[in-house]
Amino acid sequence: MPVRATKRGSERTPLTGEWDVLICGASFAGLAVARELAGSRARVLMIDRYDVGERQTSACGIPTAWLTGLGLEECVQQTFDELVVHTPHATVRFPLPWTFSTFDYRTCCALLFAQGDAEFETAKVEGRTGSTVHTDRGDLTAPLIVDALGWRRILGPGENVQPPEALLSRGLEVHPFGGGEDMEIWIDRSYVPAGYGWSFPADGELRIGIGSFDPRFHVKEPTNRLAEDLRADRVRYQGNWIPHAIRPGAEDGVFFVGDSAGHCLPLTAEGIRTALYFGLACGRELRAVVEGRRARVDALRRYDAFSGEHAWKFRWLLRTQRAVPRIPPRLLAVLLRGMQSRRFVRWSFDHYLRIAPPPDSAPAPRAADRAPVAA
Ligand SMILES: Cc1cc2nc3c(=O)[nH]c(=O)nc-3n(C[C@H](O)[C@H](O)[C@H](O)COP(=O)(O)OP(=O)(O)OC[C@H]3O[C@@H](n4cnc5c(N)ncnc54)[C@H](O)[C@@H]3O)c2cc1C
Repeated sequence: MPVRATKRGSERTPLTGEWDVLICGASFAGLAVARELAGSRARVLMIDRYDVGERQTSACGIPTAWLTGLGLEECVQQTFDELVVHTPHATVRFPLPWTFSTFDYRTCCALLFAQGDAEFETAKVEGRTGSTVHTDRGDLTAPLIVDALGWRRILGPGENVQPPEALLSRGLEVHPFGGGEDMEIWIDRSYVPAGYGWSFPADGELRIGIGSFDPRFHVKEPTNRLAEDLRADRVRYQGNWIPHAIRPGAEDGVFFVGDSAGHCLPLTAEGIRTALYFGLACGRELRAVVEGRRARVDALRRYDAFSGEHAWKFRWLLRTQRAVPRIPPRLLAVLLRGMQSRRFVRWSFDHYLRIAPPPDSAPAPRAADRAPVAA
């Protein structure tokens, strides 16, 4: 994989100009949009403040079918066919109807990037006026702009809602060297009153962390404590805010994808496959525009509607997220044991997967002919 460094200081030469599509953010959401535009011959520029894959943003656990469906097998680190849930009064093993895998972030991003043909530049996005995005290297203009910049929703209209007032969770993890066979989670108020802890093994590394649904609850101390309890080193911290409320998919002429649209699932804080899922959907709409098959305004409306169709599922998970911490621990243990039957696990996990179902093996689209760009 080619490894390039983020441009810093004097390397950040002026960058201005016009493109057909401007994708801001080069993580899961932005890379999925770019992948879908491959071969469209549109001039696509993707920007990020860091180089592609440079800053890992998550524990990188995802249903395996999403990695195989996008041809990303090479980045898989470990695969799990059980989920182990610890509570103070019981440890329950759920046999999964499909597997989860941990993966290497840098490799995953490099593979996804290679499936597209967008140009890439490092630049920090500072704001937007109409169809012009302001960056620390200059102004970039495009009729089609995607905000895949994460929870800040930087390109949205008006003032942004900042934590802790925003509907956000807090997540922090450490990445010690170590190994394990199980994908484990802890629902235990002694670590976090509302939220959960996790340990995801990833081929010689453990990703051990705490997520709090309450943004006011600080997670560093419990993350350290969980790592200590697992006799793991407290090293290589990585954390971020995690949105748990879905927001409009299109607003003020901009497409929002992934965390910027609140596409991360409440309760589980799974936001990678949803960023990919909505990224592919957004990319399909953009492709129809650059190929002259759809007007920009229709693409904005259709993508917003597609995202909105999923809102009830997000709201349902948010209600569950609010209910679970209120269940007394002993009752929770009884309930989890009762949910262990294969039939129930299959039913519930299959429903959960269908919120953002994996693509069938989907080669990156290639179009032979360049189509006119409609603004
Ligand atoms: C500790 C933790 C663990 C998690 N574990 C999992 C997990 O195991 N599985 C899962 O499915 N989800 C997990 N999540 C959630 C998941 O990380 C996010 O939902 C997912 O990363 C969203 O993808 P995205 O592409 O929308 O945004 P991000 O991955 O946040 O990417 C945003 C991109 O925008 C760039 N950017 C931001 N601001 C600017 C700016 N001003 N200028 C230029 N570039 C900018 C960033 O550098 C980044 O590349 C976890 C989250 C946390 C915090």
